[in-house]
Amino acid sequence: MSHTFSLAVVGGGILGLATAWTYQSRYPGTSVVLVERDKGLARHQTGRNSGVIHAGVYYAPGSLKATYCRRGAVMTKWLAEAMGVEFDICGKLIVATDDEELPGLAAIAERAAQNGVPLTRIDRDGLREREPHVAGRAAYLSPSTGIVDFPGLCRAMAERFEASGGTIRLGTKLLDIREEGGKVRLITDREEVLAKHMVACAGLQADRIAAMSGVGEGFRIIPFRGEYYEVRAAWPNEVRHLIYPVPDPSLPFLGVHLTRMVGNRLTVGPNAMLSFGRECYGSNIPDPRDLLDAVTFPGYWKLMLRHRKSAMSELAGSLSKRIFLNRCQRYCPSLTLDDLTPWPTGIRAQAVGADGQMIEDFLIRETARTTHVCNAPSPAATSALPIAEHVCDRIAARQTPAHRLPQRDPAKAAEQLLTT
Ligand SMILES: Cc1cc2nc3c(=O)[nH]c(=O)nc-3n(C[C@H](O)[C@H](O)[C@H](O)COP(=O)(O)OP(=O)(O)OC[C@H]3O[C@@H](n4cnc5c(N)ncnc54)[C@H](O)[C@@H]3O)c2cc1C
Repeated sequence: MSHTFSLAVVGGGILGLATAWTYQSRYPGTSVVLVERDKGLARHQTGRNSGVIHAGVYYAPGSLKATYCRRGAVMTKWLAEAMGVEFDICGKLIVATDDEELPGLAAIAERAAQNGVPLTRIDRDGLREREPHVAGRAAYLSPSTGIVDFPGLCRAMAERFEASGGTIRLGTKLLDIREEGGKVRLITDREEVLAKHMVACAGLQADRIAAMSGVGEGFRIIPFRGEYYEVRAAWPNEVRHLIYPVPDPSLPFLGVHLTRMVGNRLTVGPNAMLSFGRECYGSNIPDPRDLLDAVTFPGYWKLMLRHRKSAMSELAGSLSKRIFLNRCQRYCPSLTLDDLTPWPTGIRAQAVGADGQMIEDFLIRETARTTHVCNAPSPAATSALPIAEHVCDRIAARQTPAHRLPQRDPAKAAEQLLTT
């Protein structure tokens, strides 16, 4: 008879790894397996993002994003330090380029105050002093924002997870889920995996995996391309902070920003262009299944209609490097076309409701034996550890009284992670 794992986790991005490792270290003696479709870990959103440890400035007060991002930022820094993963708390400047953007900047400051995230106002001269290449009317500094090597963090978590008895099965694609006889059966393209509980952290495939458990209704993952350029080698030393524009409040994306990356690289991006495929990283060539799934969902057309102006502007910025550059030149006028060389594209998994609204907050759905992380866009890499704690708490709460796992004080659980 095949072994029954205590927990099976689907997805080898940062959320899957954080969940598998958190569960394993909280409940020693249990057996956890992580199933990943690709031959390596962190090859999708987690390995193709901006690498920013967000401080929690922008998110609706009281939302999961606001709460978990603040806690996640602290935990990410602790863990990176403890595990020798490269990170740098370089701070971030949110820059208003003209008077028209000042109200938007003030709204961000108010939001940050509600979220308990410290920001310092900087005037035009102060901005020039801190960042000679950056021009603006005023800015706010978020000193606690930083950068980290998220794939490095995943590798470190995977090593610890396996060292403490966890199993990782790469190249194993989940095809179907069956809940039967107090267990959950994962049918994959290689073997069947039996477990008492299953957690799916499948990013761009989250809706399809949720549908396998019957909890995929009412939303669809719509993929948004995030294209970047790298800024030429001499520049990274000349930009000390992350430089962000004032974002469009109607969208959950933060705008094209200058991002210091670990390893002393500097990128500019990402834009937010509707993608015709969920994993078409090279060029935006339509994937028939992905496109069909999008266009047969009423929410897709409502979303397109609502955001048609910004969709056209994103398309223009994607097709023309000059238009992309013009956006960055608003706050960094000395950038030139020759400074920019292409950098790998990322694709965001954004859940959209049938009403065409982007679902802003993290969304988790459950059945008796499964938990599905259905919407985990930015700042979910920063928030991965608190999301993992939440998921583990939910599983513990759903056990029958005879098998109930102890609930953990989150602060103690975090400490425990660092010592396992
Ligand atoms: C361009 C961009 C910039 C971003 N910038 C930031 C940032 O600076 N800071 C931040 O905090 N967040 C950022 N984010 C968001 C962050 O990257 C994601 O929220 C986070 O990586 C989500 O992690 P995940 O594990 O859920 O998904 P992923 O990393 O996408 O992993 C999902 C995994 O599931 C696997 N999978 C899917 N289907 C199956 C199946 N059937 N069987 C087995 N495995 C399967 C996939 O192969 C994949 O490995 C950014 C995202 C993008 C795209």
